Amino acid sequence: MKPFSYARPATPEEAVAAFTPGARFIAGGTNLLDLMKLQIETPEALIDISRLDLAEVREQDGGLLIGATVTNADLAAHPLVRARYPMLARALLSGASAQLRNKASVGGNLLQRTRCYYFYDTAAPCNKREPGIGCNAQGGYNRIHAILGASDDCIATHPSDMAVALTALEAVVVTLGPQGVRRLPIATLYALPGTTPQHEHALLPGELITHVALPAPPPGTQLYRKVRDRASYAFALVSVAAAIATEGGTITAARLAFGGLAPVPWRQAAVEAALIGRPATKPSFAAAADVLLADARPQGHNDFKVPLARRVLIAALTQLTEG
Ligand code: SF4
Repeated sequence: MKPFSYARPATPEEAVAAFTPGARFIAGGTNLLDLMKLQIETPEALIDISRLDLAEVREQDGGLLIGATVTNADLAAHPLVRARYPMLARALLSGASAQLRNKASVGGNLLQRTRCYYFYDTAAPCNKREPGIGCNAQGGYNRIHAILGASDDCIATHPSDMAVALTALEAVVVTLGPQGVRRLPIATLYALPGTTPQHEHALLPGELITHVALPAPPPGTQLYRKVRDRASYAFALVSVAAAIATEGGTITAARLAFGGLAPVPWRQAAVEAALIGRPATKPSFAAAADVLLADARPQGHNDFKVPLARRVLIAALTQLTEG
């Protein structure tokens, strides 16, 4: 392993000040340490933020302010999350294993990296790991890969369940960096791969996620539904975070975000627009699925994701609207 320095600052401001090019912030380390063991990440310095005063969940402006070092387990179990944001609690509990959820932090979960097999295989070409070298997933085994939003350079999916729910809930990511505090709507946090798959998010060097702000819950009822190869400790093949409100059998509000389909948590305004004002019936749900999948580009082994996404969406909407 490459040597690195280690610092444990006392405040977020000290953590930001301690950042140098080539450094990484570390909290639970459930992804970063694996990447370091494989020498995919080789930081020159680790800045340990796990003991900063950022492990609190509190009410704010009708919603919640969640500290970046709150563990996934604590957030899933929080009474206000369970009562008001059940899709988020379900998404958290469907991710990883109990041991990992006890260590993994909210900030780290947002920034975890893809589980594309070839990204972790340092003998295989991967544009995300080494720009310009090629992508073994294209023409290789691509069962878990993206069908929406991918590019000729990278077809990896985003791995986080939590981020899918936060996308449907319109969370805002609060950061502290050399330029001060920023508030990024989660829809602006992640970058599609395009020709630069190594650039995954909009954070600047040395910018630290300090909180996630949740606005008041969306109207209606919520769920998170995840389909995967095993009942636990597996990433989504297809998942959906959904909140739907109806009045007299007509859909009046819809929020939908998808996991397992794209390089980012996938929210498409046209899918929600296809539902609002329509009867809460299977033909409406099927029409929304048509909109979602109109531009799908499956890669061979993941062709099954097209009909699976359709069925998952229709089943989720049926469950929500039939109570
Ligand atoms: Fe690398 Fe992306 Fe291709 Fe996977 S899909 S091998 S992460 S470039």
